[in-house]
Amino acid sequence: MKSFNVPVHYRSPLVTAIKQKRKADDKMKRDFTPTFLQLGDLHIILARHFGFCYGVENAIEIAFKAVAENPGKRIFLLSEMIHNPGVNADLQALGIRFIMDTKGNMLMRWEDITNNDVVIIPAFGTTLEMEALLKAKGIDPTHYETTCPFVEKVWNRAGKIGDEGYTIVIHGKPGHEETRATFSHSQAHTHTVVVKDMAQSEVLAKYITGELPQEQFYADFNGQYSAGFDVAKDLQCIGVVNQTTMLASETQAIADYLKQVIVNHYQLSFDRYGERFADTRDTLCYATNDNQTAVAGMLESEADIALVIGGYNSSNTSHLVELCELKLPTYFINDEHCLISATTIRHFDMHTHTEMETENFMPANRPLRIMITSGASCPDALVERVLVRLAAITGNDNTIDSLTADWERP
Ligand code: SF4
Repeated sequence: MKSFNVPVHYRSPLVTAIKQKRKADDKMKRDFTPTFLQLGDLHIILARHFGFCYGVENAIEIAFKAVAENPGKRIFLLSEMIHNPGVNADLQALGIRFIMDTKGNMLMRWEDITNNDVVIIPAFGTTLEMEALLKAKGIDPTHYETTCPFVEKVWNRAGKIGDEGYTIVIHGKPGHEETRATFSHSQAHTHTVVVKDMAQSEVLAKYITGELPQEQFYADFNGQYSAGFDVAKDLQCIGVVNQTTMLASETQAIADYLKQVIVNHYQLSFDRYGERFADTRDTLCYATNDNQTAVAGMLESEADIALVIGGYNSSNTSHLVELCELKLPTYFINDEHCLISATTIRHFDMHTHTEMETENFMPANRPLRIMITSGASCPDALVERVLVRLAAITGNDNTIDSLTADWERP
């Protein structure tokens, strides 16, 4: 896979050495067992895959290139380029400004953008409507476009299925930039509806089977269906695509479930389901798959707690947290500063959407076993800083240098 020119301060000598060694030993990427690190009486169980993905590195390279190539010009990002506060702060420090927040609310006046400005499209991509607005201003939206090719792959798949006459069901967070962009590109080809989870898919199924009155659909899916959506005819043939960072197992479960609903309702034999249900297994992103499978591999070991590192608004990171929470006490942290002391941790509770502090988060037993992974928008340098901080607060800070030297040794 292509490598990118990412600023060196996002890299970590230790994590790079670990990843390179694991990759050399497992070229076909079949081994999802974690890496075991020993820092004195602190035992770290590190997921096999974590951190920056192809799309994030591509976006960072293009954004820094845009700054280098346009001295003196105003440079804007449509919204956060990726969901990592540290990376976004770095870009702002270089003078890049955000036009919108993550929900699409304007942070500045649209009239103030001119064709002398540089506008970068974030890794999530953007809507056709936004592309048209930029073109109308004389700004080429493709010049510094960082849209991930794996997101574009979903758009292409939705377009192809749509052109074949299927309605697209997007499994995604309705307000997320990527889902809004995929919705826009999909509805240019066919009718489209967004489901956020299995519960909403079960409601959608009741409209497929006619168990719920059609008029109620427009309230249940308010803001989540394309203009002119006709429940009576637009749910007869469907295909499911996803926001690339959703829980892969949930997307698969939703696709399998809706397929079965269609097969049962229309009494199709197994070899005829394709008449009304388009198979779309290949819209899952490789990084989402790798990182989630690596967490499953990590969770086969035993540990006391898990730390998941990433931006609190990062969709892919939140799903890693969900997986870990099923097995052990899990703390979703932004960076090393969240490890306030050996007893106190600051972390994000996804269920209440609040950052909170928890006392006595570390069990007293030794050795202490901690699982660690990070989201696709989290720099490896941040993971190393968390390791260094953990070593410090557990009294093992003299072990990090020798650990790095061990892994860097050929
Ligand atoms: S998580 Fe996947 S789709 Fe999203 S930016 Fe990374 S590689 Fe692209």
